[in-house]
Amino acid sequence: MKRVVIIGGGPAGILAAIKIKEKLLDQIEVIIIEKMNRIGKKIIVSGNGKCNLSNTLCEDDYIYNSTFAKDIYQRYDSNSLRADLLKMGLFTKIDEKMRVYPVTESSSTVMDLLLLQLNKYQVKLITNTQVTQVTKERQLFNIYTTTTTFKADYVVFATGGTSSKIHGSSGDGYHLLKHFNVKITPIKPGLVGLKIKEEQIKGLDGLRQKAQVMIYDQDQLIFQEKGEIQFKKDGISGIVIMNASSILARFARPLKIVLDFLEAFDEKELIKKLKMIKLANSNLPLSDLLHGLLPKSLADKISNKLSKEKNLSIETFVRLAKNYIVEVIDTYGFDNSQVTVGGISQDEIDDNFELKKVPFAYAIGELLDVDGICGGFNMHFAFASGAIMGQKLAERIQENHEANE
Ligand SMILES: Cc1cc2nc3c(=O)[nH]c(=O)nc-3n(C[C@H](O)[C@H](O)[C@H](O)COP(=O)(O)OP(=O)(O)OC[C@H]3O[C@@H](n4cnc5c(N)ncnc54)[C@H](O)[C@@H]3O)c2cc1C
Repeated sequence: MKRVVIIGGGPAGILAAIKIKEKLLDQIEVIIIEKMNRIGKKIIVSGNGKCNLSNTLCEDDYIYNSTFAKDIYQRYDSNSLRADLLKMGLFTKIDEKMRVYPVTESSSTVMDLLLLQLNKYQVKLITNTQVTQVTKERQLFNIYTTTTTFKADYVVFATGGTSSKIHGSSGDGYHLLKHFNVKITPIKPGLVGLKIKEEQIKGLDGLRQKAQVMIYDQDQLIFQEKGEIQFKKDGISGIVIMNASSILARFARPLKIVLDFLEAFDEKELIKKLKMIKLANSNLPLSDLLHGLLPKSLADKISNKLSKEKNLSIETFVRLAKNYIVEVIDTYGFDNSQVTVGGISQDEIDDNFELKKVPFAYAIGELLDVDGICGGFNMHFAFASGAIMGQKLAERIQENHEANE
């Protein structure tokens, strides 16, 4: 009997295994080798434990390196995933941001049902076993691990990227594939908080403030999104910042990041109103009046910055609060990032995720150079690539089987 070895039990590897077995049942042996003590660690933590497994807005704007990803979404969209999950007994719902969650809002439900499917199809799960090397000899792959060596007719690299190694992925897939001369685009942490020059955020630690975040390349606006920014001692975080970080990761040159803390206000109107307030309260210092507009720590920060550099006036205050430039000195790194930007180049795989340089070997999920913003896009890509790849491999094996009969 032919054997498929899938390296990595994340959403990509799990759905690939289910799809292969769904079609071929007892005609094939499928093994998932997982280095952690159990599969699906990131499924468990996603969406803060509620499991944000997809998004119905799978359009290219939300996924970077998108032409390829868009095609994948067209072939397997969130309805396809929801239908496949429903067949397994998992009911899903969509929230106001079009994020897809299990109705139970519990990632354990998702894992329980996926495990039941793997069990139903007799997919072999080998945990606590790290794949250390893969070689190919004639038609067979040798898969060396920390425990034993496996032989396989087909191998699937589903090892994820290099983000959040406590949940399993630490870049092993890139090393394994270097052996086959597969091209890897530079990798950087994405969906991660940003470390900011200390003086620009000093005194704001602990503050949560709504703002519009804008990124400029030279003078061209390339990103703008509203959201809550969380200030830390040495940096900023929050969904909007994480989304911005993935844009920064794709550019080698420095970009300008501008925060608009008064995005809800028109500049001219606001200046007019503040002047009226000042007129009615002429005895109060301007810095006190501004506390009604922004949290005290932020209003003070802006006022102090202005009084040091220029004169504090209503106009200068409003302008700075709407155009607060922050200088990124670093990110919080791969260990704190939710996704890896970069990876196995899309040129290296065909439409069905087979590696062009290594026939009968496949690469799926976050290991590839595809990443998206927060909201279910990354998990969806992992599931979608696994589903398409698994289905296509099963069809291929079946065709070969029939041809040999
Ligand atoms: C904290 C956190 C929260 C997230 N929340 C969301 C969210 O809400 N929505 C969303 O869309 N995305 C979210 N993501 C991203 C999402 O989880 C990933 O994009 C997705 O899991 C990638 O799936 P994958 O199957 O490609 O890889 P992974 O899920 O990373 O799985 C790869 C598996 O391979 C195993 N492995 C690696 N190397 C080896 C080896 N050498 N031998 C054997 N096994 C190996 C790993 O242990 C791991 O189990 C989150 C990520 C993190 C870290």
